[in-house]
Amino acid sequence: MRLDVFSIFPEYLAPLDLSLIGRAREKRLLDLTVHDLREWTHDRHRTVDDTPYGGGAGMVMKPEPWGEALDTVLSATPDVPVAEVSPSGESVAGASSAGEPVAEVPAAEDSAAAVRARPVLIVPSPAGEVFTQTTARELASRDHLVFACGRYEGIDQRVIDWASQRMEVRPMSIGDYVLNGGEVAVLAMVEAIARLLPGVIGNPGSLDEESHEDGLLEYPVYTKPATWRGLDVPSILLSGDHGKVARWRRDQRLRRTAATRPDLLAVLPAGSLDARDSEVLREATTGAQEEEQREAGSSRVEASGSGLAE
Ligand code: SAM
Repeated sequence: MRLDVFSIFPEYLAPLDLSLIGRAREKRLLDLTVHDLREWTHDRHRTVDDTPYGGGAGMVMKPEPWGEALDTVLSATPDVPVAEVSPSGESVAGASSAGEPVAEVPAAEDSAAAVRARPVLIVPSPAGEVFTQTTARELASRDHLVFACGRYEGIDQRVIDWASQRMEVRPMSIGDYVLNGGEVAVLAMVEAIARLLPGVIGNPGSLDEESHEDGLLEYPVYTKPATWRGLDVPSILLSGDHGKVARWRRDQRLRRTAATRPDLLAVLPAGSLDARDSEVLREATTGAQEEEQREAGSSRVEASGSGLAE
Protein backbone atom coordinates (compact mmCIF):
# COMPACT_ATOMS: atom_id res chain seq x y z
CA MET A 1 0.00 0.00 0.00
CA ARG A 2 1.19 3.49 -0.83
CA LEU A 3 0.58 6.33 1.64
CA ASP A 4 1.35 10.01 1.17
CA VAL A 5 0.96 12.32 4.15
CA PHE A 6 1.02 16.11 3.70
CA SER A 7 1.65 18.30 6.73
CA ILE A 8 3.33 21.54 7.74
CA PHE A 9 4.85 19.61 10.67
CA PRO A 10 6.35 16.50 9.03
CA GLU A 11 8.35 15.81 12.19
CA TYR A 12 5.04 15.23 14.00
CA LEU A 13 4.74 12.01 11.96
CA ALA A 14 8.07 10.59 13.23
CA PRO A 15 6.33 7.77 15.18
CA LEU A 16 5.51 6.21 11.81
CA ASP A 17 9.18 5.08 11.76
CA LEU A 18 8.66 3.02 14.94
CA SER A 19 7.35 -0.35 16.03
CA LEU A 20 5.12 -2.42 13.72
CA ILE A 21 4.53 0.40 11.26
CA GLY A 22 8.27 1.15 11.04
CA ARG A 23 8.96 -2.55 10.46
CA ALA A 24 6.22 -2.76 7.81
CA ARG A 25 7.92 0.13 6.03
CA GLU A 26 11.30 -1.64 6.22
CA LYS A 27 9.70 -4.79 4.81
CA ARG A 28 8.20 -2.64 2.03
CA LEU A 29 4.65 -3.64 2.95
CA LEU A 30 4.02 0.08 3.28
CA ASP A 31 5.45 2.69 0.94
CA LEU A 32 4.90 5.72 3.15
CA THR A 33 6.14 9.25 2.38
CA VAL A 34 5.64 12.28 4.62
CA HIS A 35 5.71 15.54 2.65
CA ASP A 36 6.27 19.06 3.93
CA LEU A 37 3.41 21.14 2.49
CA ARG A 38 5.64 24.22 2.56
CA GLU A 39 7.61 22.76 -0.35
CA TRP A 40 4.71 23.89 -2.52
CA THR A 41 4.88 27.54 -1.39
CA HIS A 42 6.70 30.19 -3.45
CA ASP A 43 7.19 33.17 -1.13
CA ARG A 44 10.08 33.96 1.18
CA HIS A 45 8.05 33.14 4.31
CA ARG A 46 6.69 29.87 2.88
CA THR A 47 3.17 31.01 3.76
CA VAL A 48 0.42 28.37 4.00
CA ASP A 49 -2.36 30.38 5.72
CA ASP A 50 -4.33 33.59 5.40
CA THR A 51 -7.22 35.41 7.09
CA PRO A 52 -10.73 34.01 6.59
CA TYR A 53 -13.08 35.62 4.06
CA GLY A 54 -16.13 36.89 5.93
CA GLY A 55 -14.06 37.68 9.03
CA GLY A 56 -13.79 35.74 12.26
CA ALA A 57 -11.05 34.36 14.43
CA GLY A 58 -8.09 32.29 13.27
CA MET A 59 -6.46 31.59 9.94
CA VAL A 60 -7.36 29.30 7.03
CA MET A 61 -4.99 27.13 4.98
CA LYS A 62 -4.52 28.61 1.51
CA PRO A 63 -5.64 26.55 -1.48
CA GLU A 64 -2.58 27.07 -3.74
CA PRO A 65 0.00 24.92 -1.86
CA TRP A 66 -2.58 22.18 -1.39
CA GLY A 67 -3.53 22.26 -5.08
CA GLU A 68 0.09 21.93 -6.19
CA ALA A 69 0.85 19.22 -3.63
CA LEU A 70 -2.15 17.14 -4.75
CA ASP A 71 -1.22 17.67 -8.43
CA THR A 72 2.07 15.92 -7.68
CA VAL A 73 0.28 12.89 -6.25
CA LEU A 74 -2.27 12.75 -9.06
CA SER A 75 0.32 13.11 -11.83
CA ALA A 76 2.33 10.24 -10.32
CA THR A 77 -0.76 7.99 -10.29
CA PRO A 78 -1.45 5.69 -13.26
CA ASP A 79 -4.23 7.22 -15.35
CA VAL A 80 -7.16 5.49 -13.70
CA PRO A 81 -10.68 6.80 -14.28
CA VAL A 82 -11.88 8.19 -10.98
CA ALA A 83 -15.56 8.58 -11.79
CA GLU A 84 -17.50 7.96 -8.61
CA VAL A 85 -19.57 4.81 -8.49
CA SER A 86 -22.64 5.32 -6.36
CA PRO A 87 -23.62 2.61 -3.86
CA SER A 88 -26.27 1.54 -6.40
CA GLY A 89 -23.49 0.89 -8.92
CA GLU A 90 -24.37 3.79 -11.23
CA SER A 91 -21.44 5.80 -12.48
CA VAL A 92 -21.45 9.57 -12.12
CA ALA A 93 -19.29 12.28 -13.66
CA GLY A 94 -15.66 12.33 -12.54
CA ALA A 95 -12.18 12.98 -13.84
CA SER A 96 -9.03 11.14 -14.81
CA SER A 97 -6.48 10.83 -12.05
CA ALA A 98 -4.26 13.19 -14.04
CA GLY A 99 -6.93 15.83 -13.50
CA GLU A 100 -8.71 15.82 -16.89
CA PRO A 101 -12.48 15.75 -16.42
CA VAL A 102 -14.09 12.50 -17.53
CA ALA A 103 -17.72 12.89 -18.55
CA GLU A 104 -19.09 9.44 -17.85
CA VAL A 105 -17.51 6.06 -17.19
CA PRO A 106 -19.79 3.02 -17.45
CA ALA A 107 -20.02 1.14 -14.15
CA ALA A 108 -19.43 -2.19 -15.94
CA GLU A 109 -15.93 -1.12 -17.02
CA ASP A 110 -15.13 0.13 -13.58
CA SER A 111 -13.42 -3.04 -12.44
CA ALA A 112 -12.66 -3.85 -8.80
CA ALA A 113 -8.95 -3.41 -9.57
CA ALA A 114 -9.55 0.11 -10.88
CA VAL A 115 -11.56 1.02 -7.77
CA ARG A 116 -8.76 -0.34 -5.60
CA ALA A 117 -6.12 1.64 -7.45
CA ARG A 118 -7.90 4.99 -7.20
CA PRO A 119 -6.19 7.21 -4.65
CA VAL A 120 -8.35 8.15 -1.68
CA LEU A 121 -7.80 11.58 -0.12
CA ILE A 122 -8.45 11.48 3.62
CA VAL A 123 -8.94 14.90 5.16
CA PRO A 124 -8.92 14.78 8.98
CA SER A 125 -11.64 17.06 10.32
CA PRO A 126 -13.79 17.16 13.46
CA ALA A 127 -16.65 17.81 11.03
CA GLY A 128 -15.97 14.60 9.08
CA GLU A 129 -17.51 11.15 9.14
CA VAL A 130 -16.39 9.24 12.25
CA PHE A 131 -13.50 6.86 11.59
CA THR A 132 -14.32 3.33 12.83
CA GLN A 133 -12.91 -0.18 12.51
CA THR A 134 -15.21 -0.64 9.51
CA THR A 135 -13.64 2.42 7.86
CA ALA A 136 -10.17 1.07 8.67
CA ARG A 137 -11.07 -2.24 6.94
CA GLU A 138 -12.49 -0.43 3.91
CA LEU A 139 -9.41 1.74 3.52
CA ALA A 140 -7.04 -1.20 4.09
CA SER A 141 -8.41 -2.67 0.85
CA ARG A 142 -7.20 0.30 -1.21
CA ASP A 143 -3.79 0.69 -2.87
CA HIS A 144 -3.13 4.38 -2.32
CA LEU A 145 -4.15 6.67 0.55
CA VAL A 146 -3.32 10.38 0.70
CA PHE A 147 -3.69 12.27 3.99
CA ALA A 148 -4.04 16.06 4.13
CA CYS A 149 -3.31 17.34 7.65
CA GLY A 150 -5.15 20.58 8.34
CA ARG A 151 -4.03 23.21 10.85
CA TYR A 152 -5.49 26.53 12.01
CA GLU A 153 -9.25 26.68 11.19
CA GLY A 154 -8.81 24.06 8.48
CA ILE A 155 -8.24 23.95 4.71
CA ASP A 156 -9.97 26.26 2.20
CA GLN A 157 -13.12 24.33 1.19
CA ARG A 158 -12.33 24.69 -2.52
CA VAL A 159 -9.43 22.25 -2.14
CA ILE A 160 -11.86 19.56 -1.00
CA ASP A 161 -14.40 20.49 -3.72
CA TRP A 162 -11.72 20.48 -6.45
CA ALA A 163 -10.18 17.22 -5.25
CA SER A 164 -13.62 15.55 -5.05
CA GLN A 165 -13.88 15.81 -8.84
CA ARG A 166 -10.58 14.01 -9.31
CA MET A 167 -10.35 11.44 -6.55
CA GLU A 168 -12.39 9.91 -3.76
CA VAL A 169 -12.33 12.32 -0.82
CA ARG A 170 -13.20 11.26 2.75
CA PRO A 171 -13.29 13.97 5.47
CA MET A 172 -12.69 11.90 8.63
CA SER A 173 -13.07 12.63 12.33
CA ILE A 174 -11.38 10.48 14.97
CA GLY A 175 -13.89 11.57 17.61
CA ASP A 176 -16.08 14.36 18.90
CA TYR A 177 -13.38 16.69 20.16
CA VAL A 178 -11.09 19.24 18.52
CA LEU A 179 -7.34 18.73 18.03
CA ASN A 180 -4.86 21.41 16.98
CA GLY A 181 -4.03 19.66 13.73
CA GLY A 182 -4.63 16.58 11.61
CA GLU A 183 -1.30 14.89 12.40
CA VAL A 184 -2.43 13.04 15.55
CA ALA A 185 -5.56 11.90 13.70
CA VAL A 186 -3.40 10.61 10.83
CA LEU A 187 -1.16 8.69 13.23
CA ALA A 188 -4.24 6.98 14.66
CA MET A 189 -5.80 6.21 11.28
CA VAL A 190 -2.58 4.96 9.64
CA GLU A 191 -1.93 2.64 12.58
CA ALA A 192 -5.49 1.26 12.53
CA ILE A 193 -5.38 0.70 8.76
CA ALA A 194 -1.82 -0.61 8.41
CA ARG A 195 -2.14 -3.27 11.13
CA LEU A 196 -4.89 -4.89 9.02
CA LEU A 197 -2.56 -5.39 6.03
CA PRO A 198 -1.25 -8.92 5.51
CA GLY A 199 2.19 -9.38 7.09
CA VAL A 200 2.11 -6.30 9.36
CA ILE A 201 0.97 -8.10 12.55
CA GLY A 202 3.07 -11.19 13.37
CA ASN A 203 0.07 -13.35 14.34
CA PRO A 204 -2.93 -12.43 12.16
CA GLY A 205 -5.16 -14.50 14.50
CA SER A 206 -4.79 -11.75 17.09
CA LEU A 207 -6.95 -9.49 14.87
CA ASP A 208 -9.92 -11.86 14.93
CA GLU A 209 -11.39 -11.32 18.38
CA GLU A 210 -10.42 -7.72 18.89
CA SER A 211 -12.77 -5.02 20.08
CA HIS A 212 -14.98 -3.67 17.30
CA GLU A 213 -14.23 -6.50 14.86
CA ASP A 214 -17.66 -8.13 15.25
CA GLY A 215 -19.49 -5.39 17.14
CA LEU A 216 -18.42 -6.49 20.65
CA LEU A 217 -15.56 -5.33 22.87
CA GLU A 218 -12.73 -7.69 23.74
CA TYR A 219 -12.73 -9.82 26.91
CA PRO A 220 -10.28 -8.93 29.76
CA VAL A 221 -6.83 -10.47 29.27
CA TYR A 222 -4.37 -11.90 31.84
CA THR A 223 -0.79 -13.24 31.87
CA LYS A 224 1.63 -14.76 34.41
CA PRO A 225 1.94 -14.77 37.40
CA ALA A 226 -1.33 -16.49 38.33
CA THR A 227 -1.52 -14.40 41.52
CA TRP A 228 -0.36 -10.79 41.67
CA ARG A 229 -0.72 -8.52 44.72
CA GLY A 230 -3.40 -10.83 46.10
CA LEU A 231 -5.39 -10.86 42.85
CA ASP A 232 -5.93 -14.22 41.13
CA VAL A 233 -6.40 -14.88 37.44
CA PRO A 234 -9.97 -16.25 36.91
CA SER A 235 -9.59 -20.00 37.56
CA ILE A 236 -11.38 -20.99 34.35
CA LEU A 237 -8.44 -19.63 32.35
CA LEU A 238 -6.16 -22.16 34.10
CA SER A 239 -8.58 -25.07 33.57
CA GLY A 240 -7.31 -26.13 30.14
CA ASP A 241 -10.95 -26.57 29.01
CA HIS A 242 -10.97 -24.68 25.70
CA GLY A 243 -14.76 -24.82 25.33
CA LYS A 244 -15.35 -23.32 28.78
CA VAL A 245 -12.65 -20.68 28.24
CA ALA A 246 -14.26 -19.67 24.93
CA ARG A 247 -17.72 -19.40 26.58
CA TRP A 248 -16.31 -17.41 29.53
CA ARG A 249 -14.59 -15.02 27.13
CA ARG A 250 -17.77 -14.57 25.11
CA ASP A 251 -19.73 -13.83 28.32
CA GLN A 252 -17.11 -11.28 29.33
CA ARG A 253 -17.29 -9.58 25.94
CA LEU A 254 -21.08 -9.33 26.21
CA ARG A 255 -20.98 -8.01 29.79
CA ARG A 256 -18.24 -5.49 29.04
CA THR A 257 -20.05 -4.22 25.94
CA ALA A 258 -23.35 -3.94 27.86
CA ALA A 259 -21.60 -2.02 30.66
CA THR A 260 -19.50 0.45 28.67
CA ARG A 261 -20.90 0.58 25.12
CA PRO A 262 -24.59 -0.42 25.08
CA ASP A 263 -24.87 1.59 21.84
CA LEU A 264 -22.87 -1.16 20.10
CA LEU A 265 -25.36 -3.83 21.18
CA ALA A 266 -28.20 -1.87 19.67
CA VAL A 267 -26.66 -2.18 16.17
CA LEU A 268 -25.50 -5.81 16.27
CA PRO A 269 -26.50 -7.62 13.06
CA ALA A 270 -29.61 -9.80 13.41
CA GLY A 271 -28.80 -13.39 14.36
CA SER A 272 -25.46 -12.59 15.99
CA LEU A 273 -26.65 -13.58 19.50
CA ASP A 274 -27.50 -17.14 20.59
CA ALA A 275 -29.81 -18.05 23.50
CA ARG A 276 -26.96 -18.03 26.04
CA ASP A 277 -25.75 -14.62 24.76
CA SER A 278 -29.23 -13.17 25.26
CA GLU A 279 -29.41 -14.59 28.79
CA VAL A 280 -26.02 -13.06 29.69
CA LEU A 281 -27.15 -9.70 28.33
CA ARG A 282 -30.45 -9.87 30.23
CA GLU A 283 -28.58 -10.54 33.47
CA ALA A 284 -26.07 -7.77 32.74
CA THR A 285 -28.79 -5.24 31.99
CA THR A 286 -30.89 -6.20 35.03
CA GLY A 287 -27.78 -6.01 37.24
CA ALA A 288 -26.97 -2.53 35.92
CA GLN A 289 -30.54 -1.32 36.48
CA GLU A 290 -30.56 -2.62 40.05
CA GLU A 291 -27.22 -0.92 40.68
CA GLU A 292 -28.61 2.37 39.32
CA GLN A 293 -31.69 2.08 41.54
CA ARG A 294 -29.51 1.34 44.60
CA GLU A 295 -27.34 4.39 43.83
CA ALA A 296 -30.38 6.61 43.30
CA GLY A 297 -31.82 5.36 46.61
CA SER A 298 -28.62 6.00 48.55
CA SER A 299 -28.21 9.52 47.13
CA ARG A 300 -31.82 10.31 48.15
CA VAL A 301 -31.00 9.14 51.69
CA GLU A 302 -27.79 11.25 51.73
CA ALA A 303 -29.67 14.30 50.42
CA SER A 304 -32.42 13.98 53.06
CA GLY A 305 -29.75 13.56 55.78
CA SER A 306 -28.08 16.78 54.67
CA GLY A 307 -31.37 18.68 54.43
CA LEU A 308 -31.08 18.99 50.61
CA ALA A 309 -34.06 16.79 49.76
CA GLU A 310 -37.00 18.53 48.08
N1 SAM B 1 -12.32 24.94 12.78
C1 SAM B 1 -12.40 23.52 12.70
C2 SAM B 1 -13.79 23.05 13.14
O1 SAM B 1 -14.35 23.64 14.07
O2 SAM B 1 -14.31 22.07 12.57
C3 SAM B 1 -11.37 22.87 13.61
C4 SAM B 1 -9.98 23.06 13.11
S1 SAM B 1 -8.81 22.21 14.09
C5 SAM B 1 -8.31 23.46 15.23
C6 SAM B 1 -7.41 22.08 13.04
C7 SAM B 1 -7.27 20.76 12.33
O3 SAM B 1 -7.15 19.72 13.28
C8 SAM B 1 -8.40 20.31 11.44
O4 SAM B 1 -8.33 20.93 10.18
C9 SAM B 1 -8.19 18.83 11.35
O5 SAM B 1 -7.18 18.53 10.41
C10 SAM B 1 -7.63 18.51 12.74
N2 SAM B 1 -8.62 17.95 13.66
C11 SAM B 1 -9.11 18.54 14.76
N3 SAM B 1 -9.96 17.77 15.42
C12 SAM B 1 -10.03 16.61 14.72
C13 SAM B 1 -10.76 15.41 14.90
N4 SAM B 1 -11.60 15.22 15.91
N5 SAM B 1 -10.58 14.43 13.99
C14 SAM B 1 -9.75 14.60 12.94
N6 SAM B 1 -9.04 15.73 12.73
C15 SAM B 1 -9.17 16.72 13.61
